[in-house]
Parts: sequence; C-alpha cells; structure tokens
Amino acid sequence: MTSPAREFSVLERICRPGQLEDSRVLIGPGDDLALVRAEGRGDVGGAEILVGVDQLIDGIHVDIATVGWSAAGRKAVTRSLSDIAAMAGRPVSIVVSAAVPPDVTEASAMELFDSMKETASQYHAPLVGGDLAILKEGPLTCSVTVMAVPPPQGAVTRFGAQPGDGLYVTGQLGGAWRGTHHLTFEPRLSEASMLRAILQDRLHAMLDISDGLGRDAAHLVERSGLQVVIEADALPCRDGADVSQAVGDGEDYELLLAAAGEVPEGLGACPVTRIGTIQERPDPDAPPVVLEWNGANHDISQSGWEHQ
Ligand SMILES: [Mg+2]
Repeated sequence: MTSPAREFSVLERICRPGQLEDSRVLIGPGDDLALVRAEGRGDVGGAEILVGVDQLIDGIHVDIATVGWSAAGRKAVTRSLSDIAAMAGRPVSIVVSAAVPPDVTEASAMELFDSMKETASQYHAPLVGGDLAILKEGPLTCSVTVMAVPPPQGAVTRFGAQPGDGLYVTGQLGGAWRGTHHLTFEPRLSEASMLRAILQDRLHAMLDISDGLGRDAAHLVERSGLQVVIEADALPCRDGADVSQAVGDGEDYELLLAAAGEVPEGLGACPVTRIGTIQERPDPDAPPVVLEWNGANHDISQSGWEHQ
C-alpha cells in the first residue's frame, strides 16, 4: 500500500544530520537556511552565503480568489525573507519561479511578479531572476529562493539552546490565518539583527514561527535531550486569539529564540516576551515541548499546522 507524502517525514530524509561531506557546507539541511562558503578552486576563505527556498501554493498558504495576486506575491517573498531573519542574516537577493493555472490572465501574472519584485526591493533583496510556467492544471505555485549574508557575529542556528536559557518570542501569536497578519506581516529582519548585535553569543538558538509555536519549539530541541517549557499565562496572544490559537495556529512569522541572561523587553515598537525556559528533559520519554496551563502540563510538541 502506498501512503501519501508528508512534509516532515520527507524533509527528515533530506535533513538527517551527519551527512555533510563537503567542507563548503557550513550549515546543512534542517535549519531555516543553509550556510555555504562560496569558494572557488584554489581560493582560501571565500564569502559565506545563506541560501534557502520556500513555496507558496494557492489553497494552502493563500486563497488567491479572496486575497488577490498582489497579496499572494507579497507573502511568497516575505515568508522566505522571514527565514533570513531566523538566521539573523541580511538579504542579498532573491530568484523566483511560478507555475500558474492555464486560465490565468497575463495581467494577473504581471501583478504577481510586480508584487514579488516590489516586495523584494522594499527589503533590499533585489529580484535578480525568475521563471514562469503555465500548468495544464493545478493551483498557482510560487517558489522563492533567497540569498543572504550572515551577521558579523555569525548566523544563528535552531539547535544551540542550552539548559537554563530563557525562551522568548517577538510580537504576538495566534489568529494570524484568521485575520490579515499572514498577508501583511513584516519579516523580523531588523529585530533579528538587533538581537544578534545586543546578545552576541548569548543568543543561542532562533527560528521563525510558521508551523505553530508548539511544533516550532519542538524543532529547537530536536537534536538535543532538552525540553522546552512554555507558560500559558506569559503568551502574548494577538487581539482576539486565545492560548490554544497562540500555541497552534502558526503563520505568525515571529522570532522564537533561546538566550542566556538579560534580553531586552522590546526592540523599537516590537515587544520581546519571555514565554518559558529550556531545561533538561526529565526522562527520555518526556515530551519535547510542554505547556504549563491552569496548573497542568500539556504536551504541545505536535501543536501546529502542517502545510499540506
Ligand atoms: Mg523558518
């Protein structure tokens, strides 16, 4: 019997650690972006480049009939830029490819590409190449590849959390998909750079919340024996969202970080809230992420939205 492909089990195959055989690959699959050294033959050193790709599909990440082509183009770019923020990188450029349904007008395709180009340039990530294919059938699929450079202090990975670290989140969580936040959010590029500059090596791990707080927090400890403990009362819920939505809705594109010592409570207009702690897992079968809520511990390691 054949079973349907699931995003995480397929990605796991690509992302299995310990498979890096090329010394130019500094951070391999499994993080928000990879880090490679662009080293020519005989070069010593070479520039470090962050690179990654993400897709936006009509019916999964947006509903084009409701939001329109321009909003879809913006989101295709901003959700990829959010992965640059997760590594504390600075955008360099993007390339895009789109496959559109056969009945799409030229004007709609133009609107899509104009929006991607405009959004990219707004974040100083010029769109430097693209491709358009016309599908025989199927929904709009937009693929955005981002290139970026790490900050002077080095890129921040997902996997460096330490026992005793505080867990922090930027902005607010929950309800992003129900409202317009998932279309209008600003990738936290400058906040991530500020955090890296302020915290230096005390910023141990970071990612952007796309799948949902529970599931994304689990990524922070998937290569360690650590556990994330989140306090429900501390969660900064977006207006109209409750704790379970803050934990499971996803599409927030906020930064989730583990850091030691003092962390600023805000960066400009962006709040930074301590929502929990990283600790040793009490036993090997304990859940990777627990939510302390109303006096009970809840396993929220799977709370989130698998884009499928
Ligand atoms: Mg990400």
